[in-house]
Amino acid sequence: MSTTQKSLPKSLLVQGYEVVIGFETHAQLSTQSKIFSRAPTAFGAEPNTQACPVDLALPGSLPVMNVGAVERAIRLGLALGSHIAERSVFARKNYFYPDLPKGYQISQFEIPVVQGGEVSFFLGDEKKTVRLVRAHLEEDAGKSLHEDFVGMSGIDLNRAGTPLLEIVTEPDMRSSAVAVAYAKELHKIVTWIGICDGNMQEGSFRCDANVSVRKPGEPLGTRREIKNLNSFKFMQQAMDYEIRWQIEQLEDGKAIEQATILFNPDTGETRAMRTKEDAADYRYFPDPDLPPLVIGRDWVEQVRSEMPELPRVMAARFETQYSLSEYDAAALTSSVAMGAYFEVATKASGQPKLVSNWLAGEVARRLNEEDIGIDRCPVPPEALGQMIELIHAGEINNKTAKEQLFPHLWGIGKQVIAGNGSLTFHTASGAIKTIAVSLNIIQTNDSSALEKIVTDVIAANPKNVDEFKAGNAKALNALVGQIMKASGGKANPAQVNELLKAKLN
Ligand code: ADP
Ligand code: MG
Repeated sequence: MSTTQKSLPKSLLVQGYEVVIGFETHAQLSTQSKIFSRAPTAFGAEPNTQACPVDLALPGSLPVMNVGAVERAIRLGLALGSHIAERSVFARKNYFYPDLPKGYQISQFEIPVVQGGEVSFFLGDEKKTVRLVRAHLEEDAGKSLHEDFVGMSGIDLNRAGTPLLEIVTEPDMRSSAVAVAYAKELHKIVTWIGICDGNMQEGSFRCDANVSVRKPGEPLGTRREIKNLNSFKFMQQAMDYEIRWQIEQLEDGKAIEQATILFNPDTGETRAMRTKEDAADYRYFPDPDLPPLVIGRDWVEQVRSEMPELPRVMAARFETQYSLSEYDAAALTSSVAMGAYFEVATKASGQPKLVSNWLAGEVARRLNEEDIGIDRCPVPPEALGQMIELIHAGEINNKTAKEQLFPHLWGIGKQVIAGNGSLTFHTASGAIKTIAVSLNIIQTNDSSALEKIVTDVIAANPKNVDEFKAGNAKALNALVGQIMKASGGKANPAQVNELLKAKLN
């Protein structure tokens, strides 16, 4: 099956089947050192230069809890409205693998540190909520390196002991599109609260998608778990392929066997890695080397007082403070940078709704075109704000702003970013108006000059005039367009309409 296959529909049934998806996400916590040792967590070092005796599982070495990892777990719990356990327990998950020299991974099993909570987001203009089961602290394993050129495999234990928070959802999602939107929202939250750098290429945020299908009303189907999806695009492709595959199996009268599978981005297919083991296979038991993790309420309150304003709190504030819709407020809080940009531009213009429209429209379009985020927008928020103020005051019209002033500001900003000498972007009060004046696009409210243009355009376009008189309202737009053009975009469209109608009637 090709990877360019069209995505499955956003919800509803697929060939009469309901899709059920639950996610397990491993967020690598942004601590300097490992979860149970002092070795550094930095990515990309020479193999085995960042593994200390604890990470190497040397006999006699003992794990010591990293306070920073616990604090980050508390932050996530506070951000998602979860219960933060006063007492949670570390457990050994036993299995053999060359990259796990201890023979067990330290994780949390029966009593995780973060319990419950939820993630809400928009898919299009539909609001979705996904419930969380839990989030638990655990250590990462090392990595096998297959050195084909020397015909050997090596083990790099730099990653061993890197702190992870595994965030587990209920099987609440009913389409691959909802699941991807959930993953994007979770990614936004963990980066927003500063607990994870979110770098997906480096594996700092990887998702396992549990997928099953069933006929509506039937009990949950058997799931297969697609491991280690570290790009939103692959996530969608992998789930869509898997959903189709499972439906095909069932339609052929075959049963789905629970399994752990891998997605191959080159072929766009999923394939079984191993049949799924049960929790019992891991012989979980409390780790005798680590005492229970105790989190006092005063610590939770301390962390709460240091949290940034959360996306949903900021969104609620935008709704009331700026009279915006829930949908607009959600879009404007898609990142810390977006929220900040919006507020600065609004302060400069006093026009929150117009700023919101520009950010969702022309600004988003240009950013997409150049594949950059709002944090790298060439037009500073003060400049956009001043431009919007000019539009609102009727000094320039919206169309001219879009076609001339905004692209001009964009161009200046790009030169500034490219570091052309000492060029800076001036955004002192009145700076953008000065630019608009120099571009000669300030609207004229000189009606005698405009009247002459209107008379000329009417005389030059008898066909449009006749059509308008015959009842074709669209013919008026053609005349307005001509007049705007003849005025160099400086005419006030409302005034043009008025004059034109007065002359034609
Ligand atoms: P394990 O820890 O053994 O992987 P869990 O029962 O904790 O198993 O579930 C792991 C993930 O699988 C959770 O996100 C859960 O929501 C999801 N899940 C469970 N049952 C199903 C199912 N039938 N279809 C899809 N997802 C499921
Ligand atoms: Mg699992």
